[in-house]
Amino acid sequence: MKLSDRVAIVTGAGRGIGRALALKLAGAGAVVVVNDINEDCQEVAHEIGATGRQSLAVIADVASPTDVAGLVEKTTIAFGKVDILINNAGIARDQLVMRMSDEDWDRVLAVDLKSVFLCTRAVLRYMIKQRWGRIISISSIVGLVGNPGQANYASAKAGIIGFTRAVAKEVASRGITVNAIAPGFIDTEMTQRLSENQRQELLSRIPLGRLGSPDDVAAAVAFLASEDAGYITGQVLTVDGGIAM
Ligand code: NAP
Repeated sequence: MKLSDRVAIVTGAGRGIGRALALKLAGAGAVVVVNDINEDCQEVAHEIGATGRQSLAVIADVASPTDVAGLVEKTTIAFGKVDILINNAGIARDQLVMRMSDEDWDRVLAVDLKSVFLCTRAVLRYMIKQRWGRIISISSIVGLVGNPGQANYASAKAGIIGFTRAVAKEVASRGITVNAIAPGFIDTEMTQRLSENQRQELLSRIPLGRLGSPDDVAAAVAFLASEDAGYITGQVLTVDGGIAM
């Protein structure tokens, strides 16, 4: 899967799945702009730099229009273009809907969904001009099947799917594909908060019998970002060990 000469932005890439995505795309030859809301992204950019690939860390809150404009501007100033956008940044603030605060609703929708709109809008100008682009957003199977205590998160992740399909239709004629990945339960800090009982119960429901790894998600993203996936758009690819089927 060759991504030589491609410039990719990965949001929320300081740790977890985003970090794996950044390393995978860099390993395939892409120049990677590593974004995060804190300085973790600098370590990931150094890690990529140590392999001889170009990388740039940009600290930005993807829920902020000003920060997103800065992220894309820094990318294009440094590397002249942007070919691949991976909308990965996301948070969860779980609570039963009757007890959910306005703030927890708004922040999850802002970081998990509005960010996808902001980043996509900002990169499209460049992708349309060059008539090539890949936009891949990390949704979740929770956006497909729901989950108690996650009404805000499920709404945002389902929203990503509607957004993906609408934009895929808008920009298909410009050589840009827009797809989503819906991971199941992936072994990151987000899922390490589960109790041992919850973990065992979960494992018993996953046909492939294990949690996913960030690398499982990265493999799917690298494929969708590649030339080989040029005829795939508006799709949601579940990477979930079979749990949602
Ligand atoms: P994670 O370990 O919590 O990492 C998320 C990263 O995003 C963190 O580095 C975080 O920074 C960063 N971030 C948070 N808010 C941000 C903002 N406003 N702007 C920029 N960066 C921000 O999560 P993960 O498990 O890797 O999940 C990555 C994506 O996959 C998320 O969209 C998540 O919803 C989705 N997903 C995860 C799973 C799973 O099982 N893990 C399953 C399905 C979907 P901080 O370090 O400062 O928090």
